[in-house]
Amino acid sequence: ASLQQIKDVDGAIKAVLHVDEEAALQQAKALDERLAKEEEMGLLYGLTAGLKDNIVTKGLRTTAASKLLGNYDPVYDATVSQKLKDANAVVVAKLNMDEFAMGGSNENSGFFPTRNPWNTEYVPGGSSGGSAAAMAARQFFFTLGSDTGGSIRQPAAFCGVVGLKPTYGRVSRYGLIAFASSLDQIGPITKNVEDAAYVLQAIAGYDPYDSTSADVEVPDYLSALTGEVKGLRIGVPKELIGEGIDPEVRESVLAALKQLESMGATWSEVSMPHTEYAVPTYYLLASSEASSNLARFDGVRYGVRAENADNLIELYKETRSQGFGSEVKRRIMLGTYALSSGYYDAYYKKAQQVRTLIIQDFQNVFADFDLILHPTTPTTAFKLGEKVDDPVKMYLEDICTIPVNLAGLPAISIPCGFASNGLPIGMQLVGKAFDEATILRVAHAYE
Ligand code: GLN
Repeated sequence: ASLQQIKDVDGAIKAVLHVDEEAALQQAKALDERLAKEEEMGLLYGLTAGLKDNIVTKGLRTTAASKLLGNYDPVYDATVSQKLKDANAVVVAKLNMDEFAMGGSNENSGFFPTRNPWNTEYVPGGSSGGSAAAMAARQFFFTLGSDTGGSIRQPAAFCGVVGLKPTYGRVSRYGLIAFASSLDQIGPITKNVEDAAYVLQAIAGYDPYDSTSADVEVPDYLSALTGEVKGLRIGVPKELIGEGIDPEVRESVLAALKQLESMGATWSEVSMPHTEYAVPTYYLLASSEASSNLARFDGVRYGVRAENADNLIELYKETRSQGFGSEVKRRIMLGTYALSSGYYDAYYKKAQQVRTLIIQDFQNVFADFDLILHPTTPTTAFKLGEKVDDPVKMYLEDICTIPVNLAGLPAISIPCGFASNGLPIGMQLVGKAFDEATILRVAHAYE
């Protein structure tokens, strides 16, 4: 059914980068045999999955939507890919994204942009835009994305689906092509909250292959879905519900708060005064980490190698000049500058200090509240081409999602209505560290 749906709709959506029909059918056949032999089925038995193309899959092409990795076929599975297979899911395809996960519209893909299934003149968001669009178009039972500054939640909001960024360390990053290692997390994009709980259950947990994965017990997320929100205290940051937020988005989120209130929760406005610094802080830190992480793509160890270079330095230069797109180059330059001697204290170190202030804003609110709730994005999806020439405008779109990554907290985006342009609106529930159970419970009760 997934393969058929790809054939039927992906010509218009363009979410899929690589698919191996034969391998998918073989996996499915092996599951049929398992069923016949009455073997244990596993948590995700027979469910088809599409994975963002920065998650490595053994034998299935993985490019992070970069021309530089255009011929890369991994020899191993990421821990999450392996865990999905262990749970008897069927990994069918790899999905389009902004190159190396840098972007918010999928227009930075090295290959082609993905389109929003609700209206194909609009972007699906990014960088996990392929994963969100494919979910909205029901090409798979679920998809995986990665979120460094909002890349699961923002496209989920733009495409009217559910996107969960787990706590930093909850899900192994082994086999995730690194963008910014202190921020990156893999998570599910699904059609509803219950499915998100199932997929998180399958992929969460400590992994000795990832030294930043946390040795914290994984609770039973499915039994957390009680429908109960009585007594829950919700904080709504005034910095993320007032000025700068589209009135239709604000009204939808306020209506959702009213609904939660009628179910027994309470809410009040809170202040997170350092929110305005989150975007510059993130773009300094993420670019610095990226400039270091992307140093490995030199044409020698991975991917495509430039031809006709006369010496080693020229080989590096030509490979990187030809292989990377302009947004990736911009970030490598910005990050290299911020880390360089003489500028390090003024930019990188200062950004780290501001990161601590942003973390403290969250701690202050969580001293009195169980959950933070606000829009996922300031506006609904924008038109293809609308912001592509103005990177700063594109960066400012991330204001509602970035603070969560800087603090390493879990957050879920769920649909909460439609704007008059017919496009979906998303709201975001942010939880305490390792308390995915609460945000799943409340999101499920609302849904
Ligand atoms: N839009 C943000 C960026 O361009 C977030 C990306 C992400 O989460 N991977 O960096």
